[in-house]
Amino acid sequence: MSPRPKRFRRLKEPPYVTGFIPENEDFDNNDYVNLLYEEFEALKLADYDGLSQLEASRQMEVSRPTFTRIYDSALKKIAKALVEHKKLVIGGGNVVFNDKWFVCNDCRTVFKENNKQKNNKSCPVCGSENITPLQNADLTAFNIRHRRHRGERFKDTGYCICPKCNRKEKHKRGIPCNSMLCPDCNIQMIREGSLHHLEIIEKLKNK
Ligand SMILES: [Zn+2]
Ligand SMILES: [Zn+2]
Repeated sequence: MSPRPKRFRRLKEPPYVTGFIPENEDFDNNDYVNLLYEEFEALKLADYDGLSQLEASRQMEVSRPTFTRIYDSALKKIAKALVEHKKLVIGGGNVVFNDKWFVCNDCRTVFKENNKQKNNKSCPVCGSENITPLQNADLTAFNIRHRRHRGERFKDTGYCICPKCNRKEKHKRGIPCNSMLCPDCNIQMIREGSLHHLEIIEKLKNK
């Protein structure tokens, strides 16, 4: 008997955070806990947005018991990551987003389908055709890079930048750059001068 196909869980949009690492660097980078998108969403709806489980289950278009199962699984995973001192990677799962989101496997740009530009078959930044729907992304695409210097903290100054059109917005404390979508390009902005930004600049130079 083939397993019953799982119903998709609906998310408005993907979370901006791709994971967490233990502050103490003594952890195994490859041994991580994978919190699925729907598990992240369940926690957010119930404990951050304060919805009842019934309301939350309706928003995710799942039954109430399914919601409870997803939510319980999320809690168990968070507990495991905290207690066992493991990296937490957020991604994957059985979800649909309200819009179509993609990640470029070459430059890790995350972008939303752009109706203005008809061509959605390639990365708008580096042109690579090696793109994947975000919900199917290889989790290593989000591999969290260690800060180069231990104890180095992200500064609260500087700019968020669109890696395609270079549009800049002043970085606001507590608001991650990738929570902003370039209004012209539908691309998640990144921190100017970050490792990711430097990688993209390097990639474009070598083209
Ligand atoms: Zn790309
Ligand atoms: Zn842009």
